[in-house]
Amino acid sequence: MQISPKASIVVLTGAGISAESGLATFRDNGGLWADHDIRDVATPEGFYRNPGLVFDFYNMRRREAAKASPNAAHNALAALENAWPGDFLLVTQNVDNLHEKAGSKNVLHMHGKLNSALCYECGSHQPWEGDLDEGMVCSSCARASLRPDIVWFGEMPYDMERIEDALDRAELFVAIGTSGTVYPAAGFVMEAAGKGARTVEINLEATGNPLFKDCREGPAATTVPAFVETLLSGR
Ligand SMILES: [Zn+2]
Repeated sequence: MQISPKASIVVLTGAGISAESGLATFRDNGGLWADHDIRDVATPEGFYRNPGLVFDFYNMRRREAAKASPNAAHNALAALENAWPGDFLLVTQNVDNLHEKAGSKNVLHMHGKLNSALCYECGSHQPWEGDLDEGMVCSSCARASLRPDIVWFGEMPYDMERIEDALDRAELFVAIGTSGTVYPAAGFVMEAAGKGARTVEINLEATGNPLFKDCREGPAATTVPAFVETLLSGR
């Protein structure tokens, strides 16, 4: 692929890449989460109504994610970041830490992280590895006001300014394993394309969004390493 040798790259990853490491997603049919209504477990209202249920839900997901391993797609993106001489930003909609486990460094979790707790009184974020439950205390303000550090429906995704700034400068934008239907992530391709970036979609099945000029279909664990290979050899 012909892009300048120090081109700035932005990669967006979604549920598809984690699914190939065995982590179920909200939108899976029949997955572990099919028993739950997203209004109960993924909204601030659900949390205030029944915090115990919400803590249990994310404790399960955190345990599951802790056991999961990155796949070849995660590894290829870490290798690309390591080898690429230009700016590289990985934006993920996923709340697991499989990109970090694979060795990615410049990662923004726009929808939050399972291994972090958020204090809803003082706003501090703190690393969190084990279960999180009612009554556990914030290390900054000492109040029992911690919640999962997940961006719920109706809340503002994290790091939007940094993401927009990187999209403005991107020469290549790649979306991997994301349906591209949930805003604001769905608007990223429009912003990048509007600034003249090359746009690539890598998905199990193409979304058909005409803003992607290049589309590669297939499992991320095979299509992403192949794409990274062409990118690194083509420069
Ligand atoms: Zn606090």
